[in-house]
Amino acid sequence: PSITRGVTVDIPKVSWDDIGGLKDLKKKLQQAVEWPIKHSAAFARLGISPMRGVLLHGPPGCSKTTLAKAAAHAAQASFFSLSGAELYSMYVGEGEALLRNTFRRARLAAPSIIFFDEADVVAAKRGGSSRNSTTVGERLLSTLLTEMDGLEQAKGILVLAATNRPHAIDPALMRPGRFDLVLYVPPPDMEARYEILRVHTRNMKIGDDVDLRRIAEDTELFTGAELEGLCREAGIVALRENISATLVSNRHFETVKLSLKPALTRDEIE
Ligand code: ATP
Repeated sequence: PSITRGVTVDIPKVSWDDIGGLKDLKKKLQQAVEWPIKHSAAFARLGISPMRGVLLHGPPGCSKTTLAKAAAHAAQASFFSLSGAELYSMYVGEGEALLRNTFRRARLAAPSIIFFDEADVVAAKRGGSSRNSTTVGERLLSTLLTEMDGLEQAKGILVLAATNRPHAIDPALMRPGRFDLVLYVPPPDMEARYEILRVHTRNMKIGDDVDLRRIAEDTELFTGAELEGLCREAGIVALRENISATLVSNRHFETVKLSLKPALTRDEIE
């Protein structure tokens, strides 16, 4: 981490190449996140106002967080991370203070990306509560909206929010100037699974008999996180068999594959 004007900032090290599949999605994020930061002069020249927010939705473990980090890396932007669930669980007022403080630090460290995980916890549809009292979620949401509306003047700050429950999100967030872009991050198809397996075996010593295409075919409904786990486990199986092993072989992958069941079901895919 480096220190910019008293704010400790981190630029993530993950790159687009560390993410298997999702070619079109990466391109859209490049245009929405990387371009306005890298080519801000061109945007100003043409009078285009950059986006302020992007909402990523899709099942858990399918790289929403990793995409946000890769976007920050590509744009060489400072990365700030917030969790809706964490904000929600804080003492009265503390969540709002943390939200405001994060936006303040992001402005100081700009260009910045604020990643807002589990956004639905805070940005759930309003209503339901009695007239005069406001719920924790409503107060956090209104703080978030105020901060996002205030980004107009601030340059080079973008909020990337993530959720598994897009239908629960308050429509107030989808208005222009807030989350202008909504992107679905799907579970990996066969080709993407192959690429994910390649990413996660890149630094492993694997035998010639390991057929990653076969494994990709046999792992329907596996998420990126589960495929990453499969590779790691295969390595551990090889070591368990022989602590001086120099290669991870096909049978190690097979053993693990047979013992794993994907958490996703077909109905959960949009
Ligand atoms: P959650 O909704 O649970 O926060 P997420 O969608 O944000 O999940 P990530 O945290 O980005 O998912 O992914 C979890 C792990 O799975 C990461 O460590 C990443 O390495 C791996 N992974 C997921 N998708 C991919 C992918 N397409 N390519 C490479 N690795 C992936």
